[in-house]
Amino acid sequence: MIDLNDETAPWTGLLAAATANAITDFEVEFCESLRQKLEKFGARAADRGPASQADLHRAGWRVLGARPMIDLNHGSGFNYGQAAPRPPIAAAVSSAIDTALVARNRSERPRTYVSSSGLGRDCLRQIQYDFGGLPRDEGQEFAPKTLRIFEAGHRTEDIVAGWFRIAGFDLRTERLDGRQFGFEAMAGRFKSHIDGCLVSGPVAMDYPVLWENKALGASSWKDVVKRGVSLARPVYAAQIALYQAYMDLPNPALFTALNRDTMELHSELVPFDARLAQEMSDRAVTVVQASEAGEWLPRAATEPTAMLCRGGMAAGKWHAPCPWASRCWEGRP
Ligand code: SF4
Repeated sequence: MIDLNDETAPWTGLLAAATANAITDFEVEFCESLRQKLEKFGARAADRGPASQADLHRAGWRVLGARPMIDLNHGSGFNYGQAAPRPPIAAAVSSAIDTALVARNRSERPRTYVSSSGLGRDCLRQIQYDFGGLPRDEGQEFAPKTLRIFEAGHRTEDIVAGWFRIAGFDLRTERLDGRQFGFEAMAGRFKSHIDGCLVSGPVAMDYPVLWENKALGASSWKDVVKRGVSLARPVYAAQIALYQAYMDLPNPALFTALNRDTMELHSELVPFDARLAQEMSDRAVTVVQASEAGEWLPRAATEPTAMLCRGGMAAGKWHAPCPWASRCWEGRP
């Protein structure tokens, strides 16, 4: 809630706090798009001369697309423009579903293998925490909203696969026994499943083609369309390279990204990057071997204040807050 008369709460600070707390794709993308828009506003404002703090507050809310919530009587608790209270039925249904989702997530056994999906992350220590199934810091468990987004994302694979099939592609997503195609190495300590493999279809490509699909929020989706998956989302590119190598599918892979806000579909071919695949495979071996030897791998940051740890933009790249930051830095080394 913004008190427009409070000159000590500038927009940049609020955005930084929101950015540090962003966890889900949506929150991350939201903060990033807000930052970009505020940067543009700042540049325009600089051309026109100095702006007052109140002007910046109002501009921030304009960018956000929301009305300012004005505390008409500072400290009274009454805020004009605050969202209307939710009807009891909405709160009750959401609460019942969210409680069930959190309980289901907690009951799932932690992963005991390194998955290719996270190997492209910057910090080997973080990958090691994940591999070891170490509990996330307090307050860093997946929020119900995040769990809903994850599940919706998984299900879009089936939707997009259906679209390929009605378009005449021969897309294989499961073995005869109903299990997903995938690979396993290091006695099951490193494994992953692929979304599918295109064997033939009405569009000219070098078949067979590895297929990898992601559902993305609008901001991420636009970034991928503009820069391509390898630059915009290197973690996905690392995943694709590993699949191509381990599944012996060296033809350019087909990456599809579904915009979960507009349902637009982006497709691009990703040539096999053998060097990247080798690098990621080596990382998996490093993580497994160090963990089995009881050694901690080096941190990718030197201070807990690094954007990599607390979350935020660094060198043009977004980092979500590390869910193990407290564990990592408490009682270092
Ligand atoms: S807190 Fe930072 S250094 Fe530690 S595991 Fe997380 S990302 Fe790596």
